[in-house]
Amino acid sequence: MIVRKTDEQLDSMAAAGAVHARCMQMIQKKARAGITTAELDEVAEKFIRSQGGVPTFKGFRGFPGSICASPNSMVVHGIPGPYTLEKGDILSVDIGVTLDGWVADGASTVAVGQIDETTRKLLDVTKESLDLAAAKVVPGNRLGDISNAVQTHVEDNGFSIIRTLVGHGIGENMHEEPQIPNFGPAGKGPEIETGMVFAIEPMVNVGGPEIYMDDDGWSVYSEDGSMAAHFEYTVAATENGPRILTPWDEA
Ligand code: MG
Repeated sequence: MIVRKTDEQLDSMAAAGAVHARCMQMIQKKARAGITTAELDEVAEKFIRSQGGVPTFKGFRGFPGSICASPNSMVVHGIPGPYTLEKGDILSVDIGVTLDGWVADGASTVAVGQIDETTRKLLDVTKESLDLAAAKVVPGNRLGDISNAVQTHVEDNGFSIIRTLVGHGIGENMHEEPQIPNFGPAGKGPEIETGMVFAIEPMVNVGGPEIYMDDDGWSVYSEDGSMAAHFEYTVAATENGPRILTPWDEA
């Protein structure tokens, strides 16, 4: 069952999302050559707790970090640690914030200094696919419209959708129904209704779509070592259209 939220509950989720957005913007600014992912993790945790929130990921199935920090060919679920960012890197940052029992989840891939043209295009296309998908979060549309919007834009630009990792419903729990694949036909799947909230998260490789998990049991990499990007919003369907609850790219 897809749990629908009231307007008041959406406001509570937006409050968690506002902390999320500020935290993400802070980490985007700090993700520069010379800093370690452990240092970024510490900054994020301190900020989230200073706002009365809890870093949702910390302790989730034993995950040790407050954020996921995944450089270069690592797609998702990177454990913050001694890795030191270098110019030309990209870093996918995923942050979860729980505030007053409501969860906000979002991600972005940051460029560290100048990056090559293909990697720049990967970041642009993946972010655009998220925006196109979020625009489909409208009552009366189908879940497949979201999935198809991501797939079409990514594949039209020659990149690969990772098919084994998906987005999800979100609310009082980080992972609720439904699962939201980043591929599939438009016009299919459950109808989107007012008050449904989705964490939409395209995960895209420059090369092939295959991935593998590291021995640490968390880090997921592109199989061919190509660069990978991950962008995510928590988005609610409202009568007035999509409401982005984690507006990390707004000033
Ligand atoms: Mg998520």
